[in-house]
Amino acid sequence: MGAGLVAGVDIGATYTRVVLADEKGRILDRAKFETPRSSREAVPASIASAIRMLLKRVGGSERDLRGIGVGSIGPLDVKRGVIVKAANLPLENVPIVEPLESEFGVTTYLVNDCVAAVIGEKHMGAGCDHDNLVYITISTGIGGGVYVDGRVLLGKDGNAHEIGHMVVDAEGKLVCGCGRRGHWEAYSSGTGIPKLAKLLAEENPGLFERSVLASKGDPLRLTSKDVYDAAKAGDAFARAVVEEAARYNAMGVANVVNVYDPSLITVGGSVALNNVELVVEPLKKMVHEYAVNRVPEITVTPLGDDVGLYGAIALALGLEELPIKRSR
Ligand SMILES: [Zn+2]
Repeated sequence: MGAGLVAGVDIGATYTRVVLADEKGRILDRAKFETPRSSREAVPASIASAIRMLLKRVGGSERDLRGIGVGSIGPLDVKRGVIVKAANLPLENVPIVEPLESEFGVTTYLVNDCVAAVIGEKHMGAGCDHDNLVYITISTGIGGGVYVDGRVLLGKDGNAHEIGHMVVDAEGKLVCGCGRRGHWEAYSSGTGIPKLAKLLAEENPGLFERSVLASKGDPLRLTSKDVYDAAKAGDAFARAVVEEAARYNAMGVANVVNVYDPSLITVGGSVALNNVELVVEPLKKMVHEYAVNRVPEITVTPLGDDVGLYGAIALALGLEELPIKRSR
């Protein structure tokens, strides 16, 4: 195995995934483990041991490693290469870049997970021919990554495009995980759907009582999968929730269209990828009601769940010049 391997990493609140790829960006092997919660040092240490294990498994050695790319839950401080405070992870100021660079002696890049995803889309997915591109994830939360005029946007600390926290409901009927009211993510993300179901059940108790979902009692005990599965089976209450969620998604996506004027929007994340007909298709129809800019092509990412890992690989291969340089 010659020198020319890179590592791509995706740090999530629950799981961390690590892949090794060749110089063409092809994934050779992968590992997945629970993101350590014991100490901040355990996070980079677990990534380093996964990289070493994968190098051995593909018949390579540390000398073959050219670079490391990391996409992570945030917020981040990209200049310091640190996860400042990860939502749903009881750790603060988790150092990522410095420990991995001193461990392997190769350049390591850290970006927000959705920024990694849009970089993956641009270099290895549907975005190759687009200079103005947005990736949106609809998953546990909602987030985005953006290219404008061929440049990936990061913001001052690398936390631009917290699009899930855009206000889509001036009445603020639902409270977001961040504590603020009316945010997009509170209505139609994986964690938002049960809250929206509860809201609709209170507004229309008769419809809820006739629903298969009523057997769970409190709608907050439902998962988004419960609601989408019931909607697919034709349940009237579940369909009402799903349609209302699609309307909030259309508002959020229209805001993105109006702000960034992209020529392509790709959508990923488990809620969207598992329910394309009920999530992506309706929002494509309704986005016209809220967009003032010309509505671009909106499509599911062809890279699926690996879109962020491909972005991490693209960074590790040096395919993208980031606008924020790490301060050393
Ligand atoms: Zn919020």
